[in-house]
Amino acid sequence: MEYYSSHISKLIEQLAGLPGIGAKSAQRLAFHIINMPQDQVRQLAGAMTEAREQVRYCKNCYTLTDQELCPICSNPARNQKVIMVVENTRDLAAYEKTGKYDGVYHVLHGAISPMLGIGPGDIKLKELMHRLQGDVDEVIIATNSSLEGETTAMYISKLIKPTGIKVSRIASGVPVGGDLEYIDEVTLLRALEGRVEL
Ligand code: ZN
Repeated sequence: MEYYSSHISKLIEQLAGLPGIGAKSAQRLAFHIINMPQDQVRQLAGAMTEAREQVRYCKNCYTLTDQELCPICSNPARNQKVIMVVENTRDLAAYEKTGKYDGVYHVLHGAISPMLGIGPGDIKLKELMHRLQGDVDEVIIATNSSLEGETTAMYISKLIKPTGIKVSRIASGVPVGGDLEYIDEVTLLRALEGRVEL
């Protein structure tokens, strides 16, 4: 039986499809949106559409940006010879918040997971190897300490070793399975400073 108008049902269905939003939250949000001033709803919808349409990958590090090159890659003060490999843009943001890292990044957009069927070809690994043909001193692997993150770190280090470029892994002060973005800046800095060469 339909309790709501089909428009409300459709909105609830769309919201429930978002990560972390269950049926109850979706209902709550839908009714909140319906009670919002029309102008505000238009702004919300517009922000979503614009973000989706305007945001793209940096052609160098693959983080999400509005420009061809992200502000980090185009900053002459950053050391382009040190590349920190992270799983996603949120992890990059966590390291940027420390304000102590002056190298650049490479965003993989995922991690290798045989269980989920995500292989090396599904993340931005080819792109990383391509970057390493340039002048690079060190690659710091800062993938999460989850099973997927460790698998990815091992895979990358094996790929890079033959090139002679220094490969290091952030220290294991980062809680196992913990998403980097939830870890405080002091812990992140310690993990970075205590990195070990692989
Ligand atoms: Zn970039």
